[in-house]
Amino acid sequence: MTTSPEADPTVDAVIIGAGFAGMYALRRFRDELGLDVRVFERASDVGGTWFWNRYPGARCDVESMYYSYSFSEELEQEWDWTERYATQPEILAYANHVADRFALRETITFDTSVDSAEFDESENTWVVRTDTGETVRARFLISAVGCLSSSRVPDIAGSADFTGELLHTGRWPHDGADLAGKRVAVIGTGSSGVQAIPEIARTAGHLTVFQRTPHFVIPAGNRPLAPAHVANIKSDYQTLREECRHSYGGTIVELPIGSALEFDESARRAEMDRRWSVGGTDVMATFTDTSVNLDANTILADYAREQILAYVDEPELAAHLTPRDYPIGAKRICLGTDYYTTFNRENVTLVDVRDTPITRLTQAGIVAGEQEYEFDVIVFATGYDAMTGAVLAIDIKGVGGESLRDAWAAGPRTLLGLSTAGFPNLFFITGPGSPSVLVNVIVSIEQHVDWIHDLIAHVARNDIARVEAQPQAQDDWVDHVNERSKRSFLTKVANWYQGANVPGKPRVFMPYVGGMGPYRQSCDEVAAAGYAGFTLTPALQSAPA
Ligand code: NAP
Repeated sequence: MTTSPEADPTVDAVIIGAGFAGMYALRRFRDELGLDVRVFERASDVGGTWFWNRYPGARCDVESMYYSYSFSEELEQEWDWTERYATQPEILAYANHVADRFALRETITFDTSVDSAEFDESENTWVVRTDTGETVRARFLISAVGCLSSSRVPDIAGSADFTGELLHTGRWPHDGADLAGKRVAVIGTGSSGVQAIPEIARTAGHLTVFQRTPHFVIPAGNRPLAPAHVANIKSDYQTLREECRHSYGGTIVELPIGSALEFDESARRAEMDRRWSVGGTDVMATFTDTSVNLDANTILADYAREQILAYVDEPELAAHLTPRDYPIGAKRICLGTDYYTTFNRENVTLVDVRDTPITRLTQAGIVAGEQEYEFDVIVFATGYDAMTGAVLAIDIKGVGGESLRDAWAAGPRTLLGLSTAGFPNLFFITGPGSPSVLVNVIVSIEQHVDWIHDLIAHVARNDIARVEAQPQAQDDWVDHVNERSKRSFLTKVANWYQGANVPGKPRVFMPYVGGMGPYRQSCDEVAAAGYAGFTLTPALQSAPA
């Protein structure tokens, strides 16, 4: 293995990942800054999470007209989304189109994982090693590994004993899974399970759903996009995109009618009925105070609970499917199509494992409580080691050989989610401490890449060799992130935002709840103040004696 600066090829930037973040970073850094860039991607093609998540029913729950890049007017005008919420194949086709249009693939090395990255202080470069044995030096290291890319199968005893097929929604076989007529189990009822369950029920012989915590599922209201609607948006895309960039969630939502507490029951119900029938996340935006006031929250939660009772034929089954012990929105809201009514099918059974957890797998299937259930296929819809799993899978060592795993042992600490003290010239796209998973992630990605792009341009103009977050500025940002999250219901229940789904993971609320627009302003202010909170070391000063 080569380690000397003379022997290893050196580039300006290494980008890890060729999902939406890595692709856009490549486009901006290579084509606009003229940097020499290498991109390493473990998959055999572009698309990131959309490359892997091929499970039946997979689609995005941000509206497709806004879950797309805004950086190229030509791109946004030429691409036609067909549905309100795009399917995984359509999003992947879009990613492929972008890769072709901007000739991205020629700079991406596929089927290659970055194993380690070590900061060489004497050269101010990162020494990046891959699982194919390559070593590359880079001035900047950009983590574009995604927040929900490290899929997680819970440690259940006996998993190796099962003789049927084990699948995870986030690692679905590319040639599909043959579920026709089979006895299928789905474990998990988060966003992935909620989308997969109705589709699997249509083909499986029998589907058994293992539910630990019921989620609130709002009807997606998915539909084909009317050409007139698309034309309307496209005629004013720039204004709408700008609105997204400065909004709370990075997308266009129908404005709330006001506080839930200021309307009488009939006015509230009329509005909730109307929004529920249209479907989509606008339901969550019905009132201004659903996410901050428990009484207001209960009004919407009770309404959603009533709907579940109406969808499900058997009241006892409906009771099991109904969330009762946390505020609506405290676990990520799910958008579903035919979700609750799927449980009325004769070939679908719900097993509530809240009080009788799954204890082991056997040759034949799953044991929960006293009972063994037999299956041909078990589908884990059990989520991800979110936000930190993929980056900490890489052995990253910064100043003084400190490992990122050690630095974040008590939870991730960043300045603006972009950078972490002790790891110069390393930037995270949608890292912990930024809005990331709480907003339209494409808007988040573009904002982060644009900010890093401007920083690199500044660095080049000023002959700066090293950029790093100052510990005090980082502490202040972490305090701010924590302070904001304290007020949110998202911290009031076990969820993956706090790492609660991964045993042993520190319970730290990772994303920034302050919203896309205000967050963007914070980043802009830092840049306008000459990158306040970052230490920028000129090349001469940092040169070895
Ligand atoms: P998730 O939200 O973490 O859900 C995992 C599910 O598995 C939960 O129901 C969890 O129950 C259950 N589970 C985990 N371990 C279990 C065990 N040992 N026994 C029984 N149940 C177990 O994962 P996800 O559904 O893949 O979604 C993750 C995130 O990805 C979403 O929140 C969303 O941000 C994103 N996503 C988005 C879309 C979309 O755009 N529509 C689609 C899919 C995913 P508990 O709740 O009790 O822990």
